[in-house]
Amino acid sequence: MIEQFTSYSTKLERLSNDELHRSAEKLVLGENTTLAKLIAHLAEMSSRKTALKLGYKSLYEYCITGLNLSEGAVPTRIHVANVSRRFPQLLVALAESRISLTVAALLAPHLTKDNVDKVISDCAGMKRKETEEYMVAFRPKPVFEPSIRKRPAPPVQVESPSPFPPSSSTPSAASVEAPKSSPPILQPAQPEVFNFRFSANRDFKDKLDRLAEVVGVENAQKNMAALLEKALDIALEKKDPKKKLERRRKRERASATTAPSRSNEIAREDEPAESRYIAAEVLERVHERGGYQCTYRAPDGRRCTARAGLHIDHSEPFGIFHSNEELILRLLCASHNGLEAERVYGPAFIQRKIDERGKARQARRS
Ligand SMILES: [Zn+2]
Repeated sequence: MIEQFTSYSTKLERLSNDELHRSAEKLVLGENTTLAKLIAHLAEMSSRKTALKLGYKSLYEYCITGLNLSEGAVPTRIHVANVSRRFPQLLVALAESRISLTVAALLAPHLTKDNVDKVISDCAGMKRKETEEYMVAFRPKPVFEPSIRKRPAPPVQVESPSPFPPSSSTPSAASVEAPKSSPPILQPAQPEVFNFRFSANRDFKDKLDRLAEVVGVENAQKNMAALLEKALDIALEKKDPKKKLERRRKRERASATTAPSRSNEIAREDEPAESRYIAAEVLERVHERGGYQCTYRAPDGRRCTARAGLHIDHSEPFGIFHSNEELILRLLCASHNGLEAERVYGPAFIQRKIDERGKARQARRS
C-alpha cells in the first residue's frame, strides 16, 4: 500500500498545476457520487430498519460502529438520507457536486414538493453561511419564546476558558436556524471529574431552586453538583428497577420468618391472562435477568447496547397467547420492541395503531 502511494505521489509530481487541479476535481466528483450513493443506502436501510435488525440501537450507532464513520460525519448524512426518498433531486445535486453535503443538510428540513427545484438551483455553489442567509430570506425568521432565549446562569462554573467559541455574536445570525451541531453537554475535565454544560428553561431553574429548599442544600448555584446528585439519588431510588429489586429482597429477607413468600403465587401462570398487568416484582426480575439492557440479538449474535427506555416485551405475543408467564418476558429497547411488534403483527397493523393513537391524542387535545 505504501509503495503504491509513493509511486502515485511520484506520478503527481510530474503533473502541471492545471492537470493537478483537474485530477483533484475528478476525485471530488467521484467522492460526491459515492457519498450520494452511501446516503441512498442509509435511506434504504432506514426504511427497512436494517440497523436495528443487525443489532444496532439506531442508524446513527450503526454508522459510527458498523461503518466506522466519524461522529461528526454521521448527522448530516442521516439528515439528508431522511428526505432523500421524497426529494431524490438532493442526491442528484450532491452527486453532481452542485451542492455540498453541508448545504444539502441545511436545506433538507425545509424542502417541499413546490420549492425543491428552485431551492436547489438557487443554492448551487453556495457555502454554509450564504445558504443560511438564503434560508432566512426564503423563510420567515423563527420566533423564539422569551423563555428559550433567556439563558439562566450557567449550572457549573467552569474555571478554565470554554473550549467552545460562542456560536455567533451578531443578533441576526443568532436568529438563523438552530445550530446543527450543539456543543457537547458532558466533557471529561480530569480523570474523575466532568464538566457539564447545558441550557434550560425557567421551569427547570424554578424546580431546581425549590429542590434546594426541599432537600436542604444551601446556595444552589454554588452546590449544584451536590444538589443534582441528591436529585439523581432520589430519582434512581424511585425509578431504577435494580434498586426496587434490592429493596424488595431486603424486605422479603426481613419478613421471611414471619410471612410465607409470595413468589409461589406468581409462578402459577397456567391459565390465560386477561390483562397485560404484570406484578412489579416480576418486572424487576425480568430487568435483572436482562442485565438492565436491551436483549435483542442480531442473527450474528450482536446484542443491542440500549439501556434507556427499556420495555417489557412478550416473546410469545400477548395478543395471541394471552400469557404473562415470567419466562416469556424479556427486555427490549423501544426500537427493537417496535421491530418485534412489526415482525409479529406486520408493518401495516402497527402503522394503523400509531395513526389511531395519534388521532386519539389529537381528539383529546381539541
Ligand atoms: Zn435494542
